[in-house]
Amino acid sequence: MKTIVRLDLSPQQANRVPAGDPVGEGSQIYFEGGDITGQTTDAIVNAANSSLMGGGGVDGAIHRAGGPAILEECRNIVARDGHLPPGEAVQTTGGKLKAAFVIHTVGPIWRDGMQGEAGILTSAYRNSMRLADRLALHSVALPAISTGVYGYPPKAAAEVAVSTVADELLASRSLHQARFVLWNSEMLSIFVQAARELQQRRKAEHWSFTTLEIDDSNP
Ligand code: ADP
Repeated sequence: MKTIVRLDLSPQQANRVPAGDPVGEGSQIYFEGGDITGQTTDAIVNAANSSLMGGGGVDGAIHRAGGPAILEECRNIVARDGHLPPGEAVQTTGGKLKAAFVIHTVGPIWRDGMQGEAGILTSAYRNSMRLADRLALHSVALPAISTGVYGYPPKAAAEVAVSTVADELLASRSLHQARFVLWNSEMLSIFVQAARELQQRRKAEHWSFTTLEIDDSNP
């Protein structure tokens, strides 16, 4: 069994949902463990580096699973526009992934927290969400950007990630499902805790959390 936590941000706003929408009502953030490359969302966000030439962690996993077409597109983007600055986002197709698009963004390298790291991490999530919305997508999967080799402390990263994604979801036109896919159970509980603390800070009593137990034995 796999545990997924769903946060409904706007259960009272059923009228925001287009007719025939399969997901349900309002805007939702899901939190789950596992490998982001298996997600069936419309887009997967990649924690890339500025060269867009692949690397370790999520980046390596996405290029391995998605095949060489993604790297080829990245090469063309860099040839045309140069390196992708931290905080910015660009899209390629999803190659062999189930997701139709990969949105590549670059998070900050953590130094001491005084070098604009939080602002860059906010921009990385914000620009990824806005790009997905401009592409008229409905759902997106996101990793814990910068918490791997870039060294961002997980709790601080989770606060930025959850608050930015919640704000963007509520402001978006077409996008109304975000799924945080966290590599291990510790990161999963840090993200869920950050969401609960955000709810308290914002006094958002209408937000509701549901824990779902999913049978994942037959993928
Ligand atoms: P960054 O360079 O932005 O720190 P990393 O890819 O090194 O990016 O790590 C970002 C986060 O993604 C880390 O928490 C890492 O454990 C996690 N991670 C690594 N591989 C995967 C994967 N296949 N699916 C989801 N998360 C992953």
